Amino acid sequence: MAKLRRDGCYFWVTWLTRLLAGEDACEWSAWFRGRHDSRSWDRVPGDFDQAGWQMAHTAMVNETRERWEGLDHKVFTERQNGFSLRGNAGTLGGRPDLIARTGDSGTVIDVKTGKPNPAHVVQVMIYMYAVPRAMGRHQGVVFNGQVAYGDHVVDVPADAVDGLFVERLSGLVSRLGSDAAARRVPSPGECRFCPITAADCPERAEDEGPEQGLTTDF
Ligand code: SF4
Repeated sequence: MAKLRRDGCYFWVTWLTRLLAGEDACEWSAWFRGRHDSRSWDRVPGDFDQAGWQMAHTAMVNETRERWEGLDHKVFTERQNGFSLRGNAGTLGGRPDLIARTGDSGTVIDVKTGKPNPAHVVQVMIYMYAVPRAMGRHQGVVFNGQVAYGDHVVDVPADAVDGLFVERLSGLVSRLGSDAAARRVPSPGECRFCPITAADCPERAEDEGPEQGLTTDF
């Protein structure tokens, strides 16, 4: 049986990005994961090729790091970039791929091996907000952002992280950190990628293909 975390709720950034981007609707998944000890509940076995992804991702991170170093930036890489930002509703944790600094300005970069998706930009925006607040060495730095794909980059200006974005991020974290259960929205397309089994989420929807509706004349 899933056990509550002893030290309050903890949310990994990537659990929030698709919700904020409107790609996902089921907040219950992040609500459940955020408040329970990750070792205390079973996950749906995945068929994801972790080793293949890791090698492709590492190669792209190294290429991107070299590009920024060639632009006279000091570049911090993955394990140097882990952060925990504590708030009233819980702690937000993340680890940007690269942080490039020159003087008092910087760029947070996340490298993606797959197809572009709005959630990738949201992920970088959360890092732009959290890094200068959570990491002493980057305190006070105004960050731009960048999503780096294999064949192009998407730049995210610092002013994209405005009051409305922060309000939406805070609102989501507040809902997920609340004792009141978040909204559960089962759908085959979303449940298929959710790690929570039917033992913890009895409403889990199985993927049975598109629902066959009634016919119509048009
Ligand atoms: S299995 Fe489906 S309904 Fe249950 S938490 Fe995951 S996404 Fe939501």
